[in-house]
Amino acid sequence: MKLAARVEQVTPSLTLAIDAKAKAMRAEGIDICSFSAGEPDFDTPKHIVEAAKVALDQGKTRYGPAAGEPKLRQAIAQKLQHDNGLCYGAENVIVTNGGKQSLFNLMLALIEPGDEVIIPAPFWVSYPEMVKLAEGTPVILSTSVESGFKISPEQLRQAITPKTKLLVFNSPSNPTGMVYTPDEVRAIAQVVVEAGIWVVADEIYEKILYDGAEHLSIGAVGPEIYERTIVSSGFAKTYAMTGWRVGFLAGPVPIIQACVTIQGHSTSNVCTFAQYGAIAAYEGPQDCVKEMVSAFAERRKVMLDSLNAMPGITCPKPDGAFYVFPSIAKTGMTSQEFASALLDAQQVAVIPGIAFGADDCIRLSYATSLETIQMGMERLAKFMQSL
Ligand code: GLU
Repeated sequence: MKLAARVEQVTPSLTLAIDAKAKAMRAEGIDICSFSAGEPDFDTPKHIVEAAKVALDQGKTRYGPAAGEPKLRQAIAQKLQHDNGLCYGAENVIVTNGGKQSLFNLMLALIEPGDEVIIPAPFWVSYPEMVKLAEGTPVILSTSVESGFKISPEQLRQAITPKTKLLVFNSPSNPTGMVYTPDEVRAIAQVVVEAGIWVVADEIYEKILYDGAEHLSIGAVGPEIYERTIVSSGFAKTYAMTGWRVGFLAGPVPIIQACVTIQGHSTSNVCTFAQYGAIAAYEGPQDCVKEMVSAFAERRKVMLDSLNAMPGITCPKPDGAFYVFPSIAKTGMTSQEFASALLDAQQVAVIPGIAFGADDCIRLSYATSLETIQMGMERLAKFMQSL
């Protein structure tokens, strides 16, 4: 069968594929320790679930505006003003089917064939593929452990060409967990403004920070960068709402309107009653977020200490998100060889770094129970000894 060239050059999502495999193995009764997808193991906080149940009882089960429920768009705009210092109204916001669709809509709305999109590596698996689906050209900027997995302003400046349209800026980062400091964010913003390109800030992990790390939204640096910024985020990671599929994109009205048109011909509105849960997430108490972040902090420590005690593995300390990104370079294996041998030998699921543009690393999510982490680390240590 001849499929469209557009899809033939795109690889399936490894995070979703490995997560599905791990879940299927568990359903078959296999005792698996999964550190695959970034999915908090907590239940969605009760007040959010209750709000969605009330919405169901009230008959919020019909089509809504493709851009999202007006009340949710307003709540998101208020949150962006209050938490991030970004001056948006409801008209600057579109509610999307998770953060993923917000980025996909943006690529379709902004990128034309031949446009270059700068993506610092290690990157979240879907960024380059979305750019390719929009018939743009991903331009990967490599970083290293030594640079803290961060790009420098100079490196960005050198990568910009007349074809550059957009920079994808993800902090805290999936997969490395690194967080750009406010000064570093300001320096990147200056390059973006000087070059006159766009920046999309993927801020889905902004609330998951450790050891006093600070998040500064790049669009809040000043009026010039504000005009060139689009924010992508969602409820999945902060409020344990992965399956609800509620995210958003915020930015200049013409871009948001273009995304509404795209969404109006593709998925229409996000599940109506799920949007009422999202309203409760932003308008309700935030203690649940603090509790989850402090649980992640404890798990992070256990995982980091265990990994760094294993000969053959070195793991930098992340400041945010819920991933570690250790190097397995000393084993001499590719990340896929390593991940598949580990799954076969010890039933431990990790994501090979190749999915994120770093074949000498693996990614482990610690958004899972301490018991799973302890057991998984024992198994990983055994695996390392066996090599
Ligand atoms: N964003 C999460 C991850 O990186 C969920 C899976 C996905 O959408 O890629 O694991």
